[in-house]
Amino acid sequence: MKKKIAILCSGGDVSGMNPALKRFVEYAIARGMEPYFVYHGFEGLIDNRIVPAGYADVSGIITRGGTKIGSARSERFKESSYRTIAAENLRSHGIGMLIVLGGDGSFRGMEQFYREQGIAFCGIPSTIDNDINGTDYCLGVDTALGVIRDSIDQIRDTAASFRRAFVIETMGRNCGYLALVSALTSGAELCLIPEIPADIDEYKPCFISQVEHGRDYFIAVVSEALRNSDKVAAWFEAELGFETRVAVLGHTQRGGNPSVYDRLMAYRFVTYAIDALSEGKSDSVICYSKSHFVF
Ligand code: ADP
Repeated sequence: MKKKIAILCSGGDVSGMNPALKRFVEYAIARGMEPYFVYHGFEGLIDNRIVPAGYADVSGIITRGGTKIGSARSERFKESSYRTIAAENLRSHGIGMLIVLGGDGSFRGMEQFYREQGIAFCGIPSTIDNDINGTDYCLGVDTALGVIRDSIDQIRDTAASFRRAFVIETMGRNCGYLALVSALTSGAELCLIPEIPADIDEYKPCFISQVEHGRDYFIAVVSEALRNSDKVAAWFEAELGFETRVAVLGHTQRGGNPSVYDRLMAYRFVTYAIDALSEGKSDSVICYSKSHFVF
């Protein structure tokens, strides 16, 4: 009898999940397995929204952000009684292996699920925050960085025309990765992230000198974790005399056509996940480290 394997998306969606679903279906079938989708994360496990998947389900989705099978946060999955129902649902379909695209919280939930119910799982780090311990890369980060780059490039055009300062707030929860990489790759004048406390006043002489030498706009990239974008904007107005606007990029950072890198990483993460489960690894998260995959 063919082995059955399922996949679900949990927590925040990222661009790259759809390419991962496509690779999942194609590679599972190539390895002689029967692929299943679980719709709406752990909620779908509990409500038995578990359905066989085939080529037709993944045709044409590689170009789309988000996830075709939906994602969710589930308070119920934190309770053992609901995890028992989830396991019974999987067993009723004959499924003994599960791939989870998600973040730290989802993997904690799966570890608990594995300890209690013995359903083998493999986690694929998926969050634009790039804040999962042990992996250098999480699915979705590159596409998010591309969205931020495009936004900053566009804001720069208007900033320069109007002699304005712009404070651009990026996502990342408590991690400054998106802000830092975006600032470096967009030529921002200022970057503020939680990992490196900074006294903005120290930049004032340098900024004044730049203005004296012809600078007529500023771009500051600020991580949402600091919750101080408005204060930074007020500083540019008060200390440098620049009319200032705050641009909160928000959920635009989650969407968009998956980048080449995210499509490739989705392909590689899923390939490793299916191989790991086939080889009997039962509770692992795939990490991308120093250009190598490790468990
Ligand atoms: P992420 O996976 O992106 O970190 P969350 O922290 O919101 O997202 O976690 C996603 C889901 O994982 C939660 O809604 C919950 O269903 C499940 N989960 C998180 N922590 C636990 C836990 N300790 N026990 C069981 N389930 C958990």
